[in-house]
Amino acid sequence: MAADSADLRTPRRVGRAGGVVLAGVLLVLGLFVTTLAAGALAGTQRQQDESRMDRSMEVARAVVAGEAYRRVELLGQLSASVGTQRELTAHDFNALTHRFAYRGLPGVSEVGFVVPATDDQVQGVQRLWRSRGSAVAVRPVPADEHRLVVLSRSLDGLSSALGADLAAAPEPVTAMDAARRTGQVTASQVYVLLRDRPLAPSRRQPSFVLAAPVYGAGDVPDAGLLRGWLLMGVRGVDFMDGTLKQIAQGMINVKLTDVSVPGQERRLAELRGGEPVGDTGLHRETTIDVGGRQWKLELQPTTGFLSAGGTRTYQAIMGSGVIASLLLAGLVLVLVTSRDRALARVEQATAALQADIVHRQHVETHLREREAELERFAAVAAHDLKSPLTVIMGYCELVEDTLAPGSDSQVTGWLGRVRTGTRRMQHLIDDLLAYAAAGDGSLEPAEIDLDTLVADIVMERTSHLDHDRPNIEFGRLPKVVADPARIRQVLDNLIGNAVKYVRHGTVAQVDISAEREGDMWRIAVADHGIGISADQRENVFAAFARARGSEGYPGTGLGLAICRRIVNHHGGEIRVEENPGGGSRFVFTLPVAPEPSSRGAEAEGGEDDRAERSASGSGRR
Ligand code: ADP
Repeated sequence: MAADSADLRTPRRVGRAGGVVLAGVLLVLGLFVTTLAAGALAGTQRQQDESRMDRSMEVARAVVAGEAYRRVELLGQLSASVGTQRELTAHDFNALTHRFAYRGLPGVSEVGFVVPATDDQVQGVQRLWRSRGSAVAVRPVPADEHRLVVLSRSLDGLSSALGADLAAAPEPVTAMDAARRTGQVTASQVYVLLRDRPLAPSRRQPSFVLAAPVYGAGDVPDAGLLRGWLLMGVRGVDFMDGTLKQIAQGMINVKLTDVSVPGQERRLAELRGGEPVGDTGLHRETTIDVGGRQWKLELQPTTGFLSAGGTRTYQAIMGSGVIASLLLAGLVLVLVTSRDRALARVEQATAALQADIVHRQHVETHLREREAELERFAAVAAHDLKSPLTVIMGYCELVEDTLAPGSDSQVTGWLGRVRTGTRRMQHLIDDLLAYAAAGDGSLEPAEIDLDTLVADIVMERTSHLDHDRPNIEFGRLPKVVADPARIRQVLDNLIGNAVKYVRHGTVAQVDISAEREGDMWRIAVADHGIGISADQRENVFAAFARARGSEGYPGTGLGLAICRRIVNHHGGEIRVEENPGGGSRFVFTLPVAPEPSSRGAEAEGGEDDRAERSASGSGRR
């Protein structure tokens, strides 16, 4: 057993180590392939991301520059138109700026006409423009030169800057001065529009103004002279939202900063599309020239940008690759360990089985010892009981002989019962002794002529009968080599039963035959008696077992048990079956007699010319 378990353990150790190595190799290989695939994808993806950012930048730049230019252009055209007006009135201004309201100009808050004025001129300016239809009420601030908004068209629906003095903020003043100087539409530095300053800080936006100088032009008295400026206020965030939101699509963060003066950069607007990603090298920036100022346009990718591209695929490939590798390695490990577990279970089961077998062997040996002991005891007890019974029998006969003929018939009756009981007890003891002897002890084989043996038994069993002699028929029977005394016992029991178990008042019909089947003789004793029901046919061979319906017949229930023991001891088998036509048919087998068997052959040949013989009463017929 120790050797067996060592045999089982050796391959297991090798298998587990091999499995772990295989799992490790698969894991490493899987991760390597995954990394390669993901790396290749990442390279391609990187190029795609770069070109996406480049395209986005191109578009964003075109849009911002285009929209800024459109505003500059519109303001320039308006300036030219206003310059040609002989006398600009509020009505004219409204008519000229009417189209602004419908142009779709994101971020534009207001378009106004601004005139310069000294302190002395302020009131005169107000009067003049009121006379020209404006509702202006000037609110001058301390300044060398006031810049008063005298005409205004609000484009955002909010209150306008009409009447304000733009000299309050340096940014528009600087822009106006530059415009006056250059004659060009000029953008201001980023600042919060005066009209927005009363708003809550959260609603204030970094903004700028475009300033276009207005000179009298054409056939007008003030031709070539500065009349003032047209100013367009533009809010940065609204401008950005209205122009770039579609492009950013939540994937790109956009920043627009006035960087005209180094060290004085001001953020005009920022469009946050999402969570910015770190240094990816995908950051893009460019500068745009707007009304004489430099704007820096910056584009930065967000997490949304990367995941919309290949990041998700990359992560999916990496993730699924890693998971697949882990699963594969895990599977190999599970297979290896489950094989180990199965082997361990087999080992356990084998050990348990072996322990069980050893235990059973112990029990069996013990039982055999006990059985042998009991049989010895029964044999000794039976043997010792025989002599007192013989004594009782002897005394019974003595008393009977002593009693005078015709004396007390009651005493004679009692003596008869004692003798019957004693005889029954003798039978039982004989059977017990035969049963004990049938199972073991060495056989003393000799050639038996079954023909003679059966005839002898029949004679013995029937010769003393005066009437109702059973009709026992048997053909030519073979010679066998077996223990004569025991085979006699078998046949005597079977023939005795066949004669005994008949319906009361009927005569027994018994047929004894033999046939060869391979290496065995099949000997059958068939009768037409009371029969044995199918469910009890096996049971009747057990010791002390009696079938239903045998109550009215004498017997100990040991006869067939003795027969089975003897037949088995000879290497044969015995069973009972239904006799066709009613009754029972007991069949037992015995090995064919060894050579020389000329007599056996003779017997076989004799079967063919089987002459029906019968023994009725005195023997063969
Ligand atoms: P017993 O001493 O009772 O005859 P056996 O062991 O010889 O004991 O037979 C066991 C039982 O088998 C019998 O009690 C009887 O019920 C049944 N039996 C045996 N032989 C026959 C037969 N030829 N016909 C019917 N029943 C039989």
